Amino acid sequence: MSSNTKSLKAQGNSLADVHEQIEILEHGYNGNEYRLVPFQQKLESIGLYPLLSTQLEIFQINVGKMCNQVCKHCHVDAGPDRKEIMTRETMQLCLDILAANPSFKTVDLTGGAPELNPDFRWFVEEIKKLGKHIIVRCNLTIILANKRFHDLPDFFKQHQIEVASSLPSYSKDRTDRQRGDGVFEDSVKALQMLNAVGYGVEGTGLILNLVYNPAGAFLPAPQNALEKEYKAALKKDFNIVFNSLFTITNMPISRYLDYLLQTENYEKYMEKLIAAFNPAAASNVMCRTTLSIGWDGYIYDCDFNQMLEMKVSCKGSQHLSTFNAAALTNREIIINQHCYGCTAGMGSSCGGAVA
Ligand code: SF4
Ligand code: SF4
Repeated sequence: MSSNTKSLKAQGNSLADVHEQIEILEHGYNGNEYRLVPFQQKLESIGLYPLLSTQLEIFQINVGKMCNQVCKHCHVDAGPDRKEIMTRETMQLCLDILAANPSFKTVDLTGGAPELNPDFRWFVEEIKKLGKHIIVRCNLTIILANKRFHDLPDFFKQHQIEVASSLPSYSKDRTDRQRGDGVFEDSVKALQMLNAVGYGVEGTGLILNLVYNPAGAFLPAPQNALEKEYKAALKKDFNIVFNSLFTITNMPISRYLDYLLQTENYEKYMEKLIAAFNPAAASNVMCRTTLSIGWDGYIYDCDFNQMLEMKVSCKGSQHLSTFNAAALTNREIIINQHCYGCTAGMGSSCGGAVA
């Protein structure tokens, strides 16, 4: 089990090497001859291979891997020890591309904790000038982490930012087990601060969505039912309100892969994902309308491919400096076994279920 205070990289864990992760995804663990149905074969069986993008709508930017938390299941392997951070020059390349490509309606800012990038506020202001809708993946505790972040709710409000925040449970024990000691208490305080400026409150137009991911090797419960449960419990216990709950399936990569291997659940979990393959979810996977940008300006089909260092297939347009909208719009998406995480049950994306 990961120590919960350091990233896999800082621990010197072999899974910090993405080749090791890809080897396990493709060929099983420890020389085990076990073979899982290739994702490509599943797509072929429903006429969806090669998987193609349909349009460029969402520009998701990872502004750095540094985070104030070290969550057990983090697919970014983020933490305080990660120093990779997007520079202002790379941000400027993003801005130039956003200005030249009106099809990108939404900019999704993620990390790490995106607010830890020293140019975060400048970047938000510049994106806003281009008239784009912005989503910030805020881990909540960052708001309490230092005095200089206490005004984030006001900053978000000022720029009409949509806030998406992970809260794996409405109970303290389960949240702290997954995200670290004291995370639940600070998350509750941060949610109350967001509510106080109008986030999640009906009629304000300030959107606050919560994100749930399972604590163990199982698929999320149905999104609508879980949302009702969360709304009732958070209102009753803490007088907290929010807009929607997104359920997300844990992807078998990075620290969650480490967890699966440590608990000897890897193959069982993959079997579950494969058995729950849903063609409707496969048609709607988020990579078809998204581009994911790494802290160093490289381009990926999604955040998960980014963490596996699997760049987009367009050889001439793998970096912001050589961005080619036409080629990227019609690109073939790079797939592997982790993609089953997006197509199981009602599907999974940064915006929750897709089917
Ligand atoms: S808050 Fe998010 S980015 Fe940070 S460690 Fe947790 S899951 Fe990873
Ligand atoms: S993991 Fe990425 S590339 Fe694979 S289906 Fe999901 S969004 Fe698409």
